[in-house]
Amino acid sequence: MNRILLFILFSTITNFIQAQKIENDTNSLNIIIDKNVLNAEDENENEIIKLWSNYLNSGEYKNPTSIYWDRSEYPIPDYFLWPVNIKNIKSRTPKVQCTVIGIYPVENNHYALKTSLTSIGAKGEIVLEAILSVFAKKINEKYVLVNSSQYHKGLWEKKQVGQINYYVHPNHKFDKQEADKMNAFNEKMAKLFNIPAISFDYFVSNYSREIVKLWGYDYMPKIYIPGQTGGVADISNGLVYAGNNSEYYPHELVHLYTNEVYPDGYHFWLNEGFATYLAGSGGYDLDWHIEKLKAYIIENPDFEISFKTLKGYIPNGLHSTEFRYVIGGLICKKVYESNGMKALFDGLKNVRTDEELYQFIEEKLNVKQADFSEYIKRIIK
Ligand SMILES: [Zn+2]
Repeated sequence: MNRILLFILFSTITNFIQAQKIENDTNSLNIIIDKNVLNAEDENENEIIKLWSNYLNSGEYKNPTSIYWDRSEYPIPDYFLWPVNIKNIKSRTPKVQCTVIGIYPVENNHYALKTSLTSIGAKGEIVLEAILSVFAKKINEKYVLVNSSQYHKGLWEKKQVGQINYYVHPNHKFDKQEADKMNAFNEKMAKLFNIPAISFDYFVSNYSREIVKLWGYDYMPKIYIPGQTGGVADISNGLVYAGNNSEYYPHELVHLYTNEVYPDGYHFWLNEGFATYLAGSGGYDLDWHIEKLKAYIIENPDFEISFKTLKGYIPNGLHSTEFRYVIGGLICKKVYESNGMKALFDGLKNVRTDEELYQFIEEKLNVKQADFSEYIKRIIK
């Protein structure tokens, strides 16, 4: 009984001290160690938590000479932290609280370290932003951080097909036919872009939540969305993450090629549109998505198509067609039909801002910005 009382009292004091620290300290990040991390002061665990805290407080991101991360496998191991805006995590409003929620030894002499990121929302509610997984191992007597993909690379089954190194989630059954199809698509892209075929790692799982977890997130806002077919290309490390239950995920590979050839030009609609035009999205080709857009436009003739404001899935219950992907794809299709592939390459190379994209559309399709919304509705009918 007394021990419980003492514990409650102690927790209250600790919480009070921590609460004060959150309010006062604006120059460094609030990193709290949860009381259940009983081993936080043990020698190895303590060194790793310090290393992680120092990295988070350093403000560095995508540093090609980072001293915090093992860079032997992937040149930019912290690329996966862009969804939580790690570079600005110290200065963000609302303030972010990092809580170390666990550290424990795992396979191949690594430790796993789990951290939650929380903040206070607009109505005073507590917002769970993410639960991150990083790993650590000792190199030359010192611990370094290891990203989740690198760690799991040593555990998942490996298959090589052509230039592609597949890493297979334990619940997924490898399909060689699909892999051959992907290899053929890789060679086709190499010809189209006129460069040697890219060699890359391809992680495959049945559901996107499994690939998000592999990526380093035990929780992130979109991890449990109903459409569990998705993937992402890590352009900094030349990786494809495929949570589409397939060895064939051409959309993400298009991103690796466009980044390789046109690393500086980037507009979300054009970039995703180009990948959707050449390789579909979510397992369906562009024409399938265009049919969904057409149905939506017939039901909602007055909706506005604007690069600035329009995003999200078409609300048709399927959770499959993102407005920007399908309309971007449609733009690419029209530009290709009237001006050829060279014109699309020009766009990928040069277009960065919304204004530049409107200008590009005016040049290639003879459609002015003010008419763009109506143009899309007209050509789709
Ligand atoms: Zn994409």
